[in-house]
Amino acid sequence: MKFTTILLLAITLSFSTYSQVQIKPLPKAGYDQRIRDFVSNMKVVDTHEHLGNQAGYEKSGKLDFMMLLFHYADDDIKSAGMSKAAFERLLTDSMTVMEKWTAIKPYWEGSSNTAYNRAALLTADKLFGVKDINETTVEELSAKIKKAYETDWYNKVLIEKCNIEYVVVDGEDRTLGDPKMFKFVKRFGEYFFVNSSEKIQSIEKKEGVKIQTLDDLVAALGVSFHKAMDKDFVAVKIGIAYERNLLFEDVSKEKAEAIFDKVKNLSGSTALLYNGSEMKPLQDYMMHRILDLARANKTPVEIHTGLQAGDGNYIENSNPALLANLFLKYRDVQFILFHGGYPFGGELATLAKNFRNVYLDMCWLYIISPSYSERYLHEWLETVPANKIMAFGGDFLNVEGVYGHLLFARQIVANVLISKVKDGYLSEDEALKIAQMILHDNAIRILKLNNQ
Ligand SMILES: [Zn+2]
Repeated sequence: MKFTTILLLAITLSFSTYSQVQIKPLPKAGYDQRIRDFVSNMKVVDTHEHLGNQAGYEKSGKLDFMMLLFHYADDDIKSAGMSKAAFERLLTDSMTVMEKWTAIKPYWEGSSNTAYNRAALLTADKLFGVKDINETTVEELSAKIKKAYETDWYNKVLIEKCNIEYVVVDGEDRTLGDPKMFKFVKRFGEYFFVNSSEKIQSIEKKEGVKIQTLDDLVAALGVSFHKAMDKDFVAVKIGIAYERNLLFEDVSKEKAEAIFDKVKNLSGSTALLYNGSEMKPLQDYMMHRILDLARANKTPVEIHTGLQAGDGNYIENSNPALLANLFLKYRDVQFILFHGGYPFGGELATLAKNFRNVYLDMCWLYIISPSYSERYLHEWLETVPANKIMAFGGDFLNVEGVYGHLLFARQIVANVLISKVKDGYLSEDEALKIAQMILHDNAIRILKLNNQ
């Protein structure tokens, strides 16, 4: 070999390996396969889903290959140029499978590189034995999906194929399956978006209370919170980064009251913008009241951070660093920050490291970007105690999505642990223990899933 070739090879090798500190002796041969097998086969807890029920999908107009494309893949297909209205038509019975394929084809081919769409391809292959999504396969794939829904499909996918012990659902549907397996989180969005007299009336009706003052609104929130607690509710979910920024100032009651008193007299078109700055002090005040309830009842609070799904939003609204005042004020509330904060992974690391009451949940993350997930899981395992990381939530409306996403997650978690063992940063035993913690035990402990 020429000297220049050797030099080039040496340079390439030095860049292709992680530069890592060695603490433990290097592992025994076969460690990589042992770690991968362990992570691939272990029972996991799925911390976050939006599942609709099987019967609903059986009746829907998307019980064909669109089952694999209607959630998340749809965002990238629209981002690649397909109009919202054209996409919506694909979710009805008004077109044949082939007509649907012809309409979606240019946008699918323009976006099939993204991880959302790679997840759909992996699911088609591993769940239905269909190697690609194209004009020669969509009929077969559609027929297989229809047939699957004639079986006990949810249990088959979630229990047999995914090996999931618990699923935490962000939704209200209690007919998904075994109540021992499905747990629920509750949003209190109506208390943030109470921008007109009609909205106040709708809370009155729902909770059977009279609301004339801000104190009454706070009392209604208490009723709503305790009703949820009597059921199977394990955490509060805050999704408001879709509508406004995550800075919740500690506003005075008078300031919030002034807005409530104004809102009380507004109706129809005079309602305040629910996502406008005028509503913000009232929303800030209600967030603090939710945290009072969470503190009193030891209920964890999950917060959407980072990327907002769909088309068009303000990413700076969802920066988790904006939440620091809440972490300081509510030291004994457990805050769970969602989605790896994409793209705020470094901010997330510092928050979870600095604050003992801040936890990380990697739900949705692997299909946003497998390489970001891998890079930051590496970094989080160096910066954040492993007992505060929850490493899987599918974040899907349908079980097929959960399955594909979990295949991504198991691969990435194994990749990171193998790499850390290879470098001697962790021993093989430590890596297996961490997998057990981040994919299973932490979620059960933090969300108290064994309690009910
Ligand atoms: Zn979600």
